Amino acid sequence: MKIVVVYGGKSAEHDISILTAFSIIKEIYFEYYDVQPVFITKEGTWLKGEPLTGPVAFADALKLEEAPEAHFATKEGEQSTGVMINPCSIKDEDTVVFPILHGPNGEDGTIQGMFEILDMPYVGCGVLASAAGMDKIASKQLFQQVGLPQVPYVPFIKTEWNEDPEAIYNRIEGTLLYPVFVKPANMGSSVGISKADNRDELMAAIEEALKYDRRIVVEQGIDAREIECGVLGNDDVNTSVVGEVVKEVGFYDYNEKYVNNTVTLQIPAEIPEEVSHKVREYAATAFKAIDGAGLTRCDFFLTESNEIYINEVNTMPGFTEFSMYPLLWAETGINYKNLVEELIQLALKRYNEKH
Ligand code: ATP
Ligand code: MG
Ligand code: MG
Ligand code: MG
Repeated sequence: MKIVVVYGGKSAEHDISILTAFSIIKEIYFEYYDVQPVFITKEGTWLKGEPLTGPVAFADALKLEEAPEAHFATKEGEQSTGVMINPCSIKDEDTVVFPILHGPNGEDGTIQGMFEILDMPYVGCGVLASAAGMDKIASKQLFQQVGLPQVPYVPFIKTEWNEDPEAIYNRIEGTLLYPVFVKPANMGSSVGISKADNRDELMAAIEEALKYDRRIVVEQGIDAREIECGVLGNDDVNTSVVGEVVKEVGFYDYNEKYVNNTVTLQIPAEIPEEVSHKVREYAATAFKAIDGAGLTRCDFFLTESNEIYINEVNTMPGFTEFSMYPLLWAETGINYKNLVEELIQLALKRYNEKH
C-alpha cells in the first residue's frame, strides 16, 4: 500500500507540519508501506520526490525548511528539490493520503474536500468535522448544542467591527470581564491570539487577530490548568488518558509551544479520577458533535474547584514523537507506530464503508 504524506502547506503552522511529517515518515518508511512524501510550499506549490531518509533528513526538520530543496532524495540518495506536481495527480490505486497539515487550507476541510472529489481514502476528519473543528465559533455553537460547558464568548466578523467598533466593545464588555482572549476563529498553534486586560489592549488584539481571519471570537479569560485528551476512532471512539500542559506562564502562546520549550507535559495529569472520567466523556461528546473521524485532541480548562470547560478541538493535533497526542496514546497503551497504523486502518475503514 502506498501512503502519500502531504505536509507543509500555505498556513501559519507550516513549520510545525514539517516536524510532524518527518516524525511520521521516519516511523512508517522502514515498514511495509511505500511512502510518497508530497511537500506543499508556503506559496502553495506541490512538490514530490523520493523520501529523504537517514540522519540528514531527520536531524533537524526545521533546518530543512530554510532549504526546501533538501526535502527529497534522488534514487541514488542525493538531496533533491523534487518535481512540481498537479495536486490531483496524487490519485492512484491502493493509495491512502495522510494529510499532516495544520490550520487553514489543511485542517479546515478544504483539502479534505479535494480528497473526497478524488475519491481517495485519507487519514483523519472529513470535510464537516475539519471545518467545524477549525472554526472556533462554529465549534462553540455545536458544543453548546450538546451541553458541553464552555466559557462565555462573543463572536463577530470583520465587517461588523469596521462598521461599528463601539458596538463590538459594548457587546464584549457587556458580556465578559477583563482579561479576555481574542482569537482568529480559524487558526492554531496560538497564532493571532492575544490576551487583553483593558480596552486599549482589546483594540490591538482585535487588529492582530483580523490579520488571520475575518471571523473573530473573544473569550472570557480564565485562570485554570490546561488539560488535553486524545480521541481515536470513527463512529466508535476511544479516549486516551488525560494529560496536562504544565506552564510557567499564563498563556500557552506560539513561543512557549515551539521556541522556549518551557512547557512540560504531565501524563497522566494529576487530577481526581472523576474529573478524568468526565473529561474523557466530554472529549468523546465533542468528537461526535463535530462528526469527527480518525482523531482529535480536545483541549480543556480545569479550575481550582475542578470545574471543567471545553476550550477547543484540534482535528490534526501536533504529532511529533514529543507531542501531546501521541504521548497520551503511548500512556494509554498504543505506541507511536501502532497509532499511525491504526489511523491508516481507520481511514480505509471509513472509505470502504462509503463504497
Ligand atoms: P492549538 O491548536 O495549538 O492548541 P489554538 O491556536 O487553537 O491552539 P487555543 O488552544 O484556543 O488556541 O488557545 C491557545 C492558548 O491560549 C491556550 O492553550 C491557553 O494557554 C490560552 N487561552 C486560550 N483561551 C483562553 C481563555 N479563554 N482563558 C485563558 N487562557 C486561554
Ligand atoms: Mg487549536
Ligand atoms: Mg491546532
Ligand atoms: Mg489549543
